Amino acid sequence: MTGGALRVENLTVEFDGFKAIDGLNFSLQEGELRFLIGPNGAGKTTLIDVISGRVRPTAGRVFFGHSDLSRLQEHEIVALGIARKFQTPSVFPHLTVWENLELALGFRERLPALLRPLGREGEERIAATLATVGLEHRAGQRAGTLSHGEKQWLEIGMLLIQEPRLLLLDEPVAGMTRRERELTGQLLHRIAPGRMILVVEHDMEFLRRFAHTVTVMHEGRILSEGTVEAVQSDPRVVEIYLGR
Ligand code: ADP
Repeated sequence: MTGGALRVENLTVEFDGFKAIDGLNFSLQEGELRFLIGPNGAGKTTLIDVISGRVRPTAGRVFFGHSDLSRLQEHEIVALGIARKFQTPSVFPHLTVWENLELALGFRERLPALLRPLGREGEERIAATLATVGLEHRAGQRAGTLSHGEKQWLEIGMLLIQEPRLLLLDEPVAGMTRRERELTGQLLHRIAPGRMILVVEHDMEFLRRFAHTVTVMHEGRILSEGTVEAVQSDPRVVEIYLGR
């Protein structure tokens, strides 16, 4: 695969003639943990919406490997290994942590997970996922009783167990304690190798600490891109975003 596993080419998205995205080019490579930042209205959500198939491009294309995402339905994009997590944790509160993961494993296999025996391999996958997200000690606990941070980690686990190649995360540390943010950053670093992670995030301290690379959007375009240090010292970024 050349030119990156995710490639957004000359993307424009118009809403009633207003360009929310304006000729944007963007790519992500395997193993990258990229943060997407920019002021409100910059077009971050719209970009994620296009990648996940929720919004159609007005012009331009989005490739994931050789697949043109702009021609696919949302469920086909999920089947390619693109998983999206919204800001609010979405878990089944009355099921245990283990059962939530069991259900998520079933989504991938398109089988009603709770209606059939899990099998040794399934159990191992759940146990491994619990360890990855740091919730081994919560396996038997109802998801509704977890802390906010733990619910977020469980939901990340529910996506991971489906083995995504690209994870799209919307403000994963919003509302978390300092300790939970730290653990979440470590979790993202643990799971980045072998996949791509794109994080929309406003928490600059978190970004400075954990981002590999940063893309700054402004008015539907990319204003700056690179390492945290490079982006932070870009005067255009300071002017529109960091300096405010
Ligand atoms: P961000 O996530 O960076 O805050 P958005 O992608 O949500 O930015 O929005 C970019 C621009 O597009 C904003 O001006 C917003 O009002 C507009 N926009 C987003 N979605 C729609 C929509 N469905 N209809 C009309 N305008 C929209």
